[in-house]
Amino acid sequence: MPKCKGCGDDSEELIAIRVSGRAKKLCEACADLAREQTQIAEDSEAVVQSMMGFKGRR
Ligand SMILES: [Zn+2]
Repeated sequence: MPKCKGCGDDSEELIAIRVSGRAKKLCEACADLAREQTQIAEDSEAVVQSMMGFKGRR
């Protein structure tokens, strides 16, 4: 049985997910968590950029 890279448990089905640019194979629970955390990281980055008046120019 395949092992989840996140929690190390055996899982019937692993989901391939991209976490900070790296592909990982995780069980459903870990994939959900990783997806959430990735989303939060992207959101907070967008907030910081808008607070600094980031307009897409450098
Ligand atoms: Zn897992």
